[in-house]
Amino acid sequence: MASEHHWQIYRDWCLATGRDADTLHEEFFDQVPVAASTQAGRSRAIRTRLGRPPRQAERSAMIGAQPAWRVADHWGSLPQSLAATPRSGWVSGLRGRRDAFLLTAAALGMTRNEVRLLTGEEISLGSRLALRGSEVPMAQAPLSCPGCAVIGWLSTLGTYRKWGMGIVRAEMIRAKHSPARHICLTDPGREWRLAPALVPSVDKHGWVEEHHPLSARTVSAVTARRQAEALTAPQSDQIQRRVYRSELNVHRRRSLRELAQMLDEAEDLTEAHETMIRRVEQEAARLSRPASERQTD
Ligand SMILES: [Zn+2]
Repeated sequence: MASEHHWQIYRDWCLATGRDADTLHEEFFDQVPVAASTQAGRSRAIRTRLGRPPRQAERSAMIGAQPAWRVADHWGSLPQSLAATPRSGWVSGLRGRRDAFLLTAAALGMTRNEVRLLTGEEISLGSRLALRGSEVPMAQAPLSCPGCAVIGWLSTLGTYRKWGMGIVRAEMIRAKHSPARHICLTDPGREWRLAPALVPSVDKHGWVEEHHPLSARTVSAVTARRQAEALTAPQSDQIQRRVYRSELNVHRRRSLRELAQMLDEAEDLTEAHETMIRRVEQEAARLSRPASERQTD
């Protein structure tokens, strides 16, 4: 079992370095590095063995420090994932544009925290489009173009800030009937720079929670969902024909559609849950203030 394996390595390291294996030595995690994807599991295994389950804050820090992008045969590439992410329609297009931006940042090698906490200063526009110093590539088809994904989301965020949800909604509905074209060389305006969070949560009615970046967990759920859908959603007539050719695949498609629906619901729940936690925290903060201050609310 993997957890037993982690524990054995920890015990051997303690033995080799003359430490007591019944206590937690944090320096182990620095001195014996592992792949980012294994970090959380290893820390959990060792802490649990020592009777010290990781605290909530430590757990979220571990989740946030992991790479946002997934690389394996069963996960879609960036162009594939972008092509399968809708950029029009309401509310799917709004979430899709945010996700296309998120996917691009993730594919450039950022951790989940780096993606969700991206700031305007980390984005270079102009002749060289870059996020945190990494150049954003272009692609031939507008819908699989990472440059278009970045510019598309920044200008949508700007429109939302300047004109509000109604205009964005109208734009998304209109976009359903017009063919996609490259916008990667256009200027997204300056309004998006006023957005407090560049990767905010969007509720199921299309309200952008402007002050609240997605959690690391939701970033992970978004990339998992879009990278999985990239390999299952029919992207062209040719692929569609191939998918429909066998009865087996039709069933597979149906269950994948159900899976996508479940993932949607899970995302809604996660975001609703986060909103609730924030409200409880705000209320707790309000109540901990002296009564004299509270009266002025
Ligand atoms: Zn483009």
